[in-house]
Amino acid sequence: MIEVPCPMCGQSDVVRLSSRGQYNDPANVVLCQHDGFVYLSPRMDASGYADYYARSYEGEYRVEQGDAAIRPVYGLVVDRLAPHMPDIPGTALSVGAGLGSILQLLKERQPDLACSAIEPTPGAQRHLRDVKGFDVIAGDIESEWDVGREGHYDVVIMRHVLEHLLDITSALDRIRTTLSDEGVAYIAVPDMMHPNGSLRHYWYRTPHVSYFSAHTLRHFLARSGLEVMDMVEEGHEVWCVVRKGPHETLDVPAGLARDQKSVIRKHVRRTTLPHAITRVRWAIGRRLGRG
Ligand SMILES: [Zn+2]
Repeated sequence: MIEVPCPMCGQSDVVRLSSRGQYNDPANVVLCQHDGFVYLSPRMDASGYADYYARSYEGEYRVEQGDAAIRPVYGLVVDRLAPHMPDIPGTALSVGAGLGSILQLLKERQPDLACSAIEPTPGAQRHLRDVKGFDVIAGDIESEWDVGREGHYDVVIMRHVLEHLLDITSALDRIRTTLSDEGVAYIAVPDMMHPNGSLRHYWYRTPHVSYFSAHTLRHFLARSGLEVMDMVEEGHEVWCVVRKGPHETLDVPAGLARDQKSVIRKHVRRTTLPHAITRVRWAIGRRLGRG
């Protein structure tokens, strides 16, 4: 496990929020006192996470769903992107593509669209190649897949991926590098200002190393030269559509750390008792079931 300074400000002045997350896995969740950014530290290094994804991730998190089940969720992504897309996009890339459902919906709108994917899971890679007919350009999202693809993509999708990545800025830099001049990227992450369910037993997770809010996401986007065309906090996520813009330093509001703590405090107050009752009921049910 390695200590990590705050990815936003580089300092290490943090308060600990939790040491465990979903499935009782280790998750040292901390909040930066300067800017309110929430992240894991100490945490596994890159090779530790590589092992983790190879060993446990598919079993714990990958839900194989048919296209019909996920169509409403991914259709929403296409609806959000559509007003901002170039008239006739020629190339699309999905980073962390899964089974490629969003690309498929985009291709239904635009049959000539050349679809590429980056996806670490071998099973999903096979599906993308053999069933969907897409080009899998890389397995490792944090590799140098951008080299030789500068300005290449009219549409880039990165949905619920950024919170997994150990180096936020290098990932966003690669997206900017590979966007065409008219290109747009869709980025969505869980929203730490609107968490869902028990923080300790659901929201905090070993694979989620960063917990963004609209303000902190904007900071990282500006740092990587991605200009926000549209950003919405909706339900428990923040989603945005961005394009190439100037690199900027965008400070978060002064009271953000205080606001983030207040959101967490209120959420814990609201969810702890109902969650405890659910767990007790479940334990009693198991005992009666056995008896
Ligand atoms: Zn910080």
